[in-house]
Amino acid sequence: MVMYRVRVDPGLCKGCLLCVYICNKRGGGVLRRSGVETLLGGFLPECRGECIGCRWCERLCPDFAITVEEVGD
Ligand code: SF4
Ligand code: SF4
Repeated sequence: MVMYRVRVDPGLCKGCLLCVYICNKRGGGVLRRSGVETLLGGFLPECRGECIGCRWCERLCPDFAITVEEVGD
């Protein structure tokens, strides 16, 4: 079974949380706001659960800060 890993680049992410919005609206509902601040004073997203690999977050991130990778099977 293919699984997915979500990576956020803290050097690119401004913390707008658009990815969290779309993950909960159209994706697997696994992205949440973390407690880690970004350089611009927002908060990094984090994946809490099993990502379904829909890539909505990756496509909508304005800063190309989030990537979804297939891992193992
Ligand atoms: S990963 Fe992209 S969409 Fe998500 S909070 Fe960071 S900048 Fe915004
Ligand atoms: S790929 Fe889909 S399910 Fe996985 S974190 Fe992004 S929006 Fe959520």
